[in-house]
Amino acid sequence: MAIILDGKKLRDKILVQLKSKLDSLDKKPTLAVILANDDPASLIYVNNKKKTAEKIGINSSVYTYPKNVDEKTLINKIRELNNDKNITAILVQLPLPEHIDKQKIINTIAPKKDVDGLCDYNFGKLFAGEKPYVYPCTPKGVLLLLDEYNIELEGKHAVVVGRSNLVGKPLAQMLLNRNATVTICHSKTKNLPDITKTADVLVSAVGENIIEEKMLKPNCVVVDVGIFKDNEGKLHGDVDFENVSKIASYISPVPGGVGPMTIASLMLNTVELSAD
Ligand code: NAP
Repeated sequence: MAIILDGKKLRDKILVQLKSKLDSLDKKPTLAVILANDDPASLIYVNNKKKTAEKIGINSSVYTYPKNVDEKTLINKIRELNNDKNITAILVQLPLPEHIDKQKIINTIAPKKDVDGLCDYNFGKLFAGEKPYVYPCTPKGVLLLLDEYNIELEGKHAVVVGRSNLVGKPLAQMLLNRNATVTICHSKTKNLPDITKTADVLVSAVGENIIEEKMLKPNCVVVDVGIFKDNEGKLHGDVDFENVSKIASYISPVPGGVGPMTIASLMLNTVELSAD
């Protein structure tokens, strides 16, 4: 049976460390969150982020807009937050409504306050193999989880399923920067199982139940980033956990794997950005 990559346990450990660091600081970081959609899941995510931040001593403020908000309003707000010395980190909760140019909004955030590491400056630094102000939260959380369990990446074949800017692409680059041999798969990939079968480390970030036991080699490490709800409202990941955990060496559960690590990374990034 696979060892569980326990994201909740590691998140709690990170939060305890951060809280004690923050307790000793005179000036606390402040995270500003912009929420501009009516998606109930986004509201839950934002509330969780706010609650976690406040629990460890990070101030936070949430700016909520209706989904018909215009681009200019969001840009003006971000510019105001960029210029506000009390705000040390800015997060735009995704997804944004379709009429909004997502990358334009993200690029309005000052790179030094871009807590998700998704603006062109931080992304460019990552892909150039240089140090961005911070690394994107979910990929960072995946690597922290793998490191916690001492999972070697150098020389390993890492297969990332999913190529979004939020998860797949930056994660693939971060794995490459750690000297893994990386293959990225997506919806147009032919013969996905032929590729996943060669993975030493498989990370799936799709949002559909697509990874089955027969697609993997024994003893591979499996990280499940995907989250979706079935018709009864039950949460699932991309991976058939029950059967894959019988052959994998390590596996992250959903919930309780990458999700908590994303929050932990957000808190780490917020503290890092407030450092100088
Ligand atoms: P996304 O932007 O929708 O990207 C999904 C990716 O999956 C795309 O690259 C897509 O390929 C690929 N894909 C779709 N169907 C596929 C298939 N049948 N075979 C192979 N690849 C396929 O989503 P995202 O923002 O990256 O998020 C991915 C999942 O992770 C979602 O379930 C999301 O909720 C979850 N997530 C979890 C966390 C967390 O903290 N746990 C954080 C972020 C996201 P194309 O590019 O060709 O369309």
